[in-house]
Amino acid sequence: MNNRIAVYGFTEEQLMLLAEHIPEGYVCKKYDDAVGLIGTHCLCNIICSEGLDTKAREFLDSFYLDVGENADEQVIWIDSQTKPPELEGVYFHYNSLSKLLPELKMVLERAQKHYTIQQMYCGPFAFLPKLGIEEILEDELRDARQNKYGREPEIFKRVRQEWTALLEVDAISELAAVDELITWLKQNKHPYRLGGTAVCGMIPYLLGIHDVNPLPSHLYCSECQKVIWKDDYKDGFDIPPEVCPECGGLMQGDGHNLVWQEYASYGRVPTYVFYLPYDMKPLISDWLDNHWLRKYMGDQWEAAQPYEDHLARGNMLFRFELDRNEISPEFYGINIGSNSKAELIQMATNDEYYHKNPYPKDMGELLTQLGFRKTLWKEDEVTRNIFLQNKISWRNIPACREEVFFYLKEHDFIDKDAFRGMTSVRKGKGLPVVTENMRTAEDYWKVDYFNQIDWMPSKAILLQRLFFGIKRKIKEK
Ligand SMILES: [Zn+2]
Repeated sequence: MNNRIAVYGFTEEQLMLLAEHIPEGYVCKKYDDAVGLIGTHCLCNIICSEGLDTKAREFLDSFYLDVGENADEQVIWIDSQTKPPELEGVYFHYNSLSKLLPELKMVLERAQKHYTIQQMYCGPFAFLPKLGIEEILEDELRDARQNKYGREPEIFKRVRQEWTALLEVDAISELAAVDELITWLKQNKHPYRLGGTAVCGMIPYLLGIHDVNPLPSHLYCSECQKVIWKDDYKDGFDIPPEVCPECGGLMQGDGHNLVWQEYASYGRVPTYVFYLPYDMKPLISDWLDNHWLRKYMGDQWEAAQPYEDHLARGNMLFRFELDRNEISPEFYGINIGSNSKAELIQMATNDEYYHKNPYPKDMGELLTQLGFRKTLWKEDEVTRNIFLQNKISWRNIPACREEVFFYLKEHDFIDKDAFRGMTSVRKGKGLPVVTENMRTAEDYWKVDYFNQIDWMPSKAILLQRLFFGIKRKIKEK
């Protein structure tokens, strides 16, 4: 990522020395094989020539002579030998590590500036062949997963499912492009809110593309990464904190129990919708026109035409709706956790509304009040909050599309069919299949309920809105 420094040809001793001089916030990663890794998703490359074998050294020399000033990456080359004059300005040459160390801070600042510009117009994935993109992203994903959740097998499984689905529909390059764009937006403190199916994905969550944890409800210890699954909770934010049995730390509830198939599955392509400030339109338009993704997507890239305030290319849709002046610089530093639940509820619903409007006995009227009927489209005002407050759980009323999926799973549907049913209901087409088991069950009223719905929101999108709302409320200091 943006704070990662890749080093090649370093001995352990040199690496320790370098680490002592690296300012806070940067991470050093040692690679054994320089060839094929240079120019990857990191802030800069530091190559110690003496530690490389002859083949690697010759390859890199000819590579940089060839690409010349078009080299995308920042390279710091440590070598006691004189370098060819053509390479001056292509990379930065130091005779020894001790000559570099006093200037390291300055070197990193320069690299940061370079990286930021490169990120916007030709990101670090731009010069990689397709397999290279996959390798680098997988590497990044593995690091993110292990840093957060250690070696928990359930999470590995979830990431694998999503990754396989992305490979099937050939959507890895797009994910890389989104990853780059997000990094750039964060670095430059441009606010954004994400929509589309991406919000349900564990992969985009781990990459920091969104902050809605899609895992099943669980307790998590940030000290030792211990996970305790809590199947009896619909939403992880409802779980009270507990003391960690491993390390004594405080475990917090997380995981909103989102259906992984919603991100990418069964041949469906994931969608990414960015809500961005209006004044970024020219910048984004330029970025879309010159994007490296064009070479992979070909005709598809031009398929969607810009309309009004929207710009669309391929599966990425950009909308311009935010007012950046209202966003605090702290926007990205805020983590919304289960301790924010009270605030979420307060933001989300109004008790007042429910006091004034008790749940009606008539189902049609109930659906209208919840905003699931065309006659009263009230997504913003009502439905977005239902799952966060336990007020209606006594009646067990499904309030977002994921609950259709879980209902069908309870009635013995396999994942694929449950997902099909969920998609059908949320589009207003009702349940495609009603089994004998469903007909005789106590909750048969749900069949009637689902069949009357015109549209049903995704829990992930509702959460993303609420999270964004809380972050946006932070006053600028
Ligand atoms: Zn612990």
